[in-house]
Amino acid sequence: MYLSDYHFHTRCSTDSRAALEEQAQAAIRAGVKEICVTDHWNLLDQQGNRLPTVYDWGPSLEQWRRDRDRWPGQLEIRLGVEVGNGVLDPAAVDASLDIPELDFVIGSLHSQSAAAGGRGIFTVAHECVRKEDGVAILDDYMDMLEELVRTRGWDVLGHVIYPLRYIPAEYGLDLHPWWDRLAEAFRAVIAQGKGIELNTSCGATVEQWRDVLALYRDLGGEVLTLGADAHQPKFMAAAFPQALELIRETGFRYLCVYRRREPLFCKI
Ligand SMILES: [Zn+2]
Ligand SMILES: [Zn+2]
Repeated sequence: MYLSDYHFHTRCSTDSRAALEEQAQAAIRAGVKEICVTDHWNLLDQQGNRLPTVYDWGPSLEQWRRDRDRWPGQLEIRLGVEVGNGVLDPAAVDASLDIPELDFVIGSLHSQSAAAGGRGIFTVAHECVRKEDGVAILDDYMDMLEELVRTRGWDVLGHVIYPLRYIPAEYGLDLHPWWDRLAEAFRAVIAQGKGIELNTSCGATVEQWRDVLALYRDLGGEVLTLGADAHQPKFMAAAFPQALELIRETGFRYLCVYRRREPLFCKI
């Protein structure tokens, strides 16, 4: 099968020091045939401060152009980006995404809404002292998800279970209390021909996706990408065998790769 890793980071993200070359070599070792670089472009920092609303493509383009043709016939390397909290300025996001080299955009929500203070969900989740704090994070998150699906600047929703990575597991929270709202967001995704990703979070989350994938599939969702969100080479394609098993079990027959923001379906 044509295996792809459509979510990873390099030194063009502030939280990774990996070179694209190293990530590519790790992908080849893992049997991956196509990767898409999805470095961060966040509109907010962890403290809730606004970051530039114009993305500087210079370093990403330079790195990608240097390495993209180094493994012909062995590894296809495509250019993408992961936009964090693009809902803050959808017009500015669309303007920066208007470059011909771009194949793929992940739309993620790493921060709380402006109304809730805009701080990083990672930071806020680590300050939770009771279950209600976790519930409040998820309430706010679902509000933003509803906004995000109404914008244009994304092709798949990034790690839709994101807050659950960081909210203390002891609260036993999942997305089921928000199921109707999640279904509504997925209907909007499907109606636009867009998709979601299964993000293994470096191998830490696979089984947590089961109900979410099943919901999306039941609603008619077919566009699905797979990514490990590796910030280091050792996590490229992490937990992909388990993820593929889950994807098949929940009724999917294809994984998508992208060309100029349009999905191509690859049989799994
Ligand atoms: Zn992310
Ligand atoms: Zn990421």
